[in-house]
Amino acid sequence: MPGQSRRPRSGAVHAGAPSPRLIGIPWDASSSYKRGAAAAPPLVRQALRSDAGNPFTERLTSIAGLSDAGELSLPPDPADARAAIERAVAAILADGLRPLSIGGDHSVTYPIVRAVGRALGPVTILHVDAHPDLYDAYDGDRYSHACPFARIMEEGLASRLVQVGIRAMNDHGRDQAERFGVEVIDMRAWQSGTRPDVSGNVYLSIDLDGLDPAFAPGVAHPEPGGLMTREVVDLIHDTGGTLVGADIVEYNPGEDIGGVTATVAAKLVKEVAGRMLAATPR
Ligand code: MN
Ligand code: MN
Repeated sequence: MPGQSRRPRSGAVHAGAPSPRLIGIPWDASSSYKRGAAAAPPLVRQALRSDAGNPFTERLTSIAGLSDAGELSLPPDPADARAAIERAVAAILADGLRPLSIGGDHSVTYPIVRAVGRALGPVTILHVDAHPDLYDAYDGDRYSHACPFARIMEEGLASRLVQVGIRAMNDHGRDQAERFGVEVIDMRAWQSGTRPDVSGNVYLSIDLDGLDPAFAPGVAHPEPGGLMTREVVDLIHDTGGTLVGADIVEYNPGEDIGGVTATVAAKLVKEVAGRMLAATPR
């Protein structure tokens, strides 16, 4: 079939999103407890391209031709680094592509979403995490990896914030969630069958500690009682809306066991990329 795509269609229809471009964001200086996430991007790439697998997603989309911006080079000053992340993501968007980033600690999501929000207007954020990351400040740092979604909501970069996998909420987090109108699907709600209902432009942010540490032990803040890899893969494919960007953050190689978390992170990157590519008109 010359000139015709032979890509099988995925089950769900997600129209109209431009292609993704991969970018590694090696930053962990905003981690509140254990650093190490800065070393993640090359290890996730290695797992993504491992000969142990093939480039096809579960929905039979090949990511072999995935555009790749490589690893971002970041200055040591956090404010400078955030500016550099925002510029790099703005450049991807200016090229008519969508950012798919490998973190890095979760602080990187704020500058990423800033670029996305400025280019596309307020998005719906689907946030997978054990923690709400809504602190006004943590240890005196308003840009800690415990705070990105407070900054995002304050700036009006998201029209909705829907959180999944939450199981480490505290009273401050609950107050912040109420203040910002965050829709929290905690693990108890998830277990009773609640699922996110989102549409329009959706940005997906996956903190690997949203998964149970049995599946993803290589994180700085393991919190038992979380999601299975299977559930996150299904969430990636079955959630509504158009995926306009995504990040997979908080892989901490120093805490990993036999590279299993790198393999899980790579699987999630692949399925997200595949969903974006399947929605790309060719
Ligand atoms: Mn977390
Ligand atoms: Mn997080």
